[in-house]
Amino acid sequence: MTLALARKWRPRNFGELVGQDHVVRAISNALSQNRLHHAYLLAGTRGVGKTTLARIIAKALNCEIGVSADPCGKCGACTEIDAGRYVDLLELDAASNTQVDSMRELLENALYAPTSGRFKVYIIDEVHMLSRSAFNAMLKTLEEPPAHVKFILATTDPQKVPVTVLSRCLQFNLKQIPPALIRSQLENVLGREGVQFETPALNLLARAAGGSMRDALSLLDQAIAHGAGKVEEASVREMLGAVDRSYLFSLLKSLAGGQGPALLAEAERMAAMSLSFDAALQELATLLHRIAVVQTLPEALADDEPERDTLIELAAAFSEEDIQLLYQIAIHGRRDLGLAPDEFAGFTMTLMRMLAFLPVEPAKTVPAATPGRAVAKPPTSAEEAAPAVASEVTLKPAGNAEQELADWRTLVGRIKVGGMARMLADHCEFRSLDGERLELAVPEAHKHLLDKVYTDKLQAALTDYFGRRLRLRISTGGTGNTPAEIDNQVRQAKLAKAIASIDTDPFVRELVENFDARVKDSSIKPIQ
Ligand SMILES: [Zn+2]
Repeated sequence: MTLALARKWRPRNFGELVGQDHVVRAISNALSQNRLHHAYLLAGTRGVGKTTLARIIAKALNCEIGVSADPCGKCGACTEIDAGRYVDLLELDAASNTQVDSMRELLENALYAPTSGRFKVYIIDEVHMLSRSAFNAMLKTLEEPPAHVKFILATTDPQKVPVTVLSRCLQFNLKQIPPALIRSQLENVLGREGVQFETPALNLLARAAGGSMRDALSLLDQAIAHGAGKVEEASVREMLGAVDRSYLFSLLKSLAGGQGPALLAEAERMAAMSLSFDAALQELATLLHRIAVVQTLPEALADDEPERDTLIELAAAFSEEDIQLLYQIAIHGRRDLGLAPDEFAGFTMTLMRMLAFLPVEPAKTVPAATPGRAVAKPPTSAEEAAPAVASEVTLKPAGNAEQELADWRTLVGRIKVGGMARMLADHCEFRSLDGERLELAVPEAHKHLLDKVYTDKLQAALTDYFGRRLRLRISTGGTGNTPAEIDNQVRQAKLAKAIASIDTDPFVRELVENFDARVKDSSIKPIQ
């Protein structure tokens, strides 16, 4: 590969131009119907294909076969334009030629007929950089253009182009190219170059390219060199200085679980790896944005997305409001990083802020080291006779079970049940235990949770915990003395205290302004 990929794979016809379908369609139609304008303005951020498009238009206008949206690519005019040595194509980079003299020089020979082509084509890149007098010189030609002259102006900043010029141009706005399109183009190029690659590496490159195909291909060149002929995730990550996303995933999981110590431990590990905390906050905001998209539009998540399962899991672990709040805190944290005593302090403070403002459920003390069976007492002779229980299961005395069931909220924190079954458990209260018959009650307002699938899961978790068979029956009604309700009351009490601190913290005040009453009423929760 001697030729840089960006040059080698530069689109040579409209069909190869990626991500600008709307502009291509309009220009192609005009060309095939021979409705030619004498001046075009192509606006768009860097690397989206403005000058590439301008050259394709130049070919379409001068192809020896005839004016069409599909220049042959083989004739003298086409090949010379591709090679950058066509005598009737004049390119000027206004950024380096702002003076009126170079513009005059360029326009001087506009009056003369083209040497070999149908049209003299002037491509003026970064046209907004021209000086006022240079614009005036150009305007004269724009006002009364000779029939054989075409202008194609390109700019990243159309607002700086004088309105007198704008009004004489047909304007097209090129879009930033979405990462998915860039990724598939990189995949295409690598396939044809016969270079091995890992898809996550291409995702990283596509994101880093910031909507520019040219930058994406340059980065790809670098990545191939960096990876000694292969494009692998680890090597690309290193090249881009990108944060390993597994760190971010565990940060978010710790946040979801309200686990402060785990959060700080993860930050310490990141510091030990000398990761950039600025980049980490940026990646975190990007990740939060993706989670928000998954929450709003789950279909947007590609089936082959390598982080698919984790994204879905995180999207379920937070409410949409939580994600909005975390995003805001990440952005603020990044902005304030320069003011922090050091990057590590700034980063960890941002994490703790996230933790402090998430509506964390009051910690259900789950002593992981003492699950049900470990604390089980030796079986009594009465229970040894129980035929229903598998022999290897350690039994618990019946009285003990009833006591534990009576403290239903603590028990729910100990049994292994998640998802909707856990939600069901949180909304139940203990009624009675009679032999294997366990009766719970769920308030009328939450009876939609009474699904056999969830009930069965809860029954299985309780059976597993107590090491004896239980037949679960859940009726509706009860006194409302459920873990969910108790937690709610605990939260309300602490909320009052938390709200009292709001007025004292300018950052909090800013958040409250941004999030209005929502933060105050439902999102601010003290941590346990
Ligand atoms: Zn041709």
